[in-house]
Amino acid sequence: MAEAIPALEIRDLHKRYGELEVLKGISLTANDGDVISILGSSGSGKSTFLRCINLLENPHCGQIFFSGEELQLQAGRDGQLVASSNEQINRLRTQVGFVFQNFNLWPHMTVLDNIIEAPRRVLGLSKDEAIASAEQLLAKVGIADKRHVYPNQLSGGQQQRAAIARTLAMQPKVILFDEPTSALDPEMVQEVLGVIRALAEEGRTMLLVTHEMSFARQVSSEIVFLHQGVVEEQGTPDQVFNNPQSERCKQFMSSHN
Ligand code: ADP
Ligand code: MG
Repeated sequence: MAEAIPALEIRDLHKRYGELEVLKGISLTANDGDVISILGSSGSGKSTFLRCINLLENPHCGQIFFSGEELQLQAGRDGQLVASSNEQINRLRTQVGFVFQNFNLWPHMTVLDNIIEAPRRVLGLSKDEAIASAEQLLAKVGIADKRHVYPNQLSGGQQQRAAIARTLAMQPKVILFDEPTSALDPEMVQEVLGVIRALAEEGRTMLLVTHEMSFARQVSSEIVFLHQGVVEEQGTPDQVFNNPQSERCKQFMSSHN
């Protein structure tokens, strides 16, 4: 039987800031429906890795494939790789969604307008189509009644759920989450994790940077442990949590339990 084409494949990704090389050749494969949690200490390169996948940061070397098709990159300033055309940028935006720690909703737009903006502009949906889809998504994340309010009238948990709805509205094949609950008051963490869990159960393909260890253990198909810009250890949650092989991973696990 032919092997399935991965939803996302990263090969040998490198990134530096000036002299500091923060990603030293990261490779990762996410098949359809995989939930891969990326763990590691602060400064290990987790955010940089996620941000390079959708070119919020530009890597210096590496290849990115969505559904087997390579994202076309070309050399830009300082040897960084940039998208080779607007078409590649648009392709990227329809393949991968990003959920930020600080929500990043547009403050001057209502929740509904936040959600329909990109589908209208990038996907070319009509206003009615975009609104119909947004209303379904708001219901799905449990804030259907908040569509006409502005982000600053929402709690942090509601803002993050709105941000997830906005990401889903672009129908991404892969969703990247960078510490989606780290900016929340403790009582709001579970409502956001509940939404992410439901997405995992739907079979969404996701990469998740989190410090919620028990959550990562429950929802992930794979755990990747980063240390100083390299994949120090990876495996199933059972392998990495119960029987880590590397000393650094062992230390990390014991200090986060
Ligand atoms: P993590 O998300 O795992 O905490 P980051 O990816 O944010 O780690 O950072 C990895 C390393 O890159 C750190 O040493 C950090 O200081 C450095 N770094 C991140 N962003 C920048 C930047 N814009 N300019 C310079 N150094 C940066
Ligand atoms: Mg980070």
